[in-house]
Amino acid sequence: MSEVKTPVATGGCQCGAVRYALYVAPENSHVCHCRMCQRATGGVFAALAGAPKAAFAWTKGEPAVFESSNLARRAYCRDCGTPLSFSYNMPEARFYVTIGSMDEPEAAPIIIQYGVESKIGWVKFCEDVPSETTGTDPKAAEFFAKMQSRQG
Ligand SMILES: [Zn+2]
Ligand SMILES: [Zn+2]
Repeated sequence: MSEVKTPVATGGCQCGAVRYALYVAPENSHVCHCRMCQRATGGVFAALAGAPKAAFAWTKGEPAVFESSNLARRAYCRDCGTPLSFSYNMPEARFYVTIGSMDEPEAAPIIIQYGVESKIGWVKFCEDVPSETTGTDPKAAEFFAKMQSRQG
């Protein structure tokens, strides 16, 4: 008997060509204020909700992928351009979808803010949510030290 997975959360791009499913409740929902996320989303921060890689699937269409650095990939719809996902190239790292592309963004309230060193001064937003500067813990610092940005 094969196990049929039931999506817990779903989403997709603006034109509907690409759809995805999370098979767990969204984990570690956060915003990232870093310059890479600002540029990648065209927004003033990225809002992302995660799932273990095995608990995520593209269910319709195939997104285009930009390797924003040697450590990470960002998927987007090649037809309408909606930024859809962010993931580090490590099997154990979570796969993140953009909260704005989810069908029910209310289901992914953010619990932390990353990249606050690049937070735009006039962004007054979820001020009560804890925040972290990129690469402050030693393990993260070691990881980010290897990063080669492909941002233009
Ligand atoms: Zn699209
Ligand atoms: Zn970021």
